[in-house]
Amino acid sequence: MPVADFPLGPLQTNSYIIHNEGRAVAVDVGGDPDPMLQYLTSQRLQLTDILITHRHFDHVYGVAALAEATGAPVHVPAEDDCLADTEAARGGIWGFPLVPDFSAQHIAMGATTFGGMTCQVLSTPGHTPGGISLYFPDDHLVFTGDALFYRSLGRTDFPGGDQATLLHSVTAVLFALPENTVVYPGHGPSTTIGDEKRHNPFCGGFLQE
Ligand SMILES: [Zn+2]
Repeated sequence: MPVADFPLGPLQTNSYIIHNEGRAVAVDVGGDPDPMLQYLTSQRLQLTDILITHRHFDHVYGVAALAEATGAPVHVPAEDDCLADTEAARGGIWGFPLVPDFSAQHIAMGATTFGGMTCQVLSTPGHTPGGISLYFPDDHLVFTGDALFYRSLGRTDFPGGDQATLLHSVTAVLFALPENTVVYPGHGPSTTIGDEKRHNPFCGGFLQE
């Protein structure tokens, strides 16, 4: 299952398209989605769903435009609704622009399919109250939003952030995935679960060798 990465918007948020047999799913849309739309057209893909890992402004700037251009429904974590009226979700913080409004439905935790692809929706709060990770077991990959990065973790100083909760999400939920699972984070390069278990300096030597 191919994964295409488009770093978009003011914080170069990784915005992903995964696809299989002509159907595609988007994960986060950090800015003007034009490169994603061009990719969908060139690969002759139908976008079936737009999935949001957490409701921070830099992950949703392009959601309204992508939804309007494709008609795909938008899925957001319910527990992030409490952020709706904060600058962290609406934009405006640090002088960044406001997020264009979009309508969305809540995403259910657990096993499901998107675009015909098997997906496990994992609750990984801590960076935000409702943050999720999207695990595609058949393809050994997980989208972690801003919970887990290459050699780093998400910040917890935004509204609703909690460091102990985030550490639990990473070590108890994400590190329970198979070690060969490729991690596609919200910012920066990809990594693997096994690599971060051994080398992530913020996880307290979870698995020392
Ligand atoms: Zn974030």
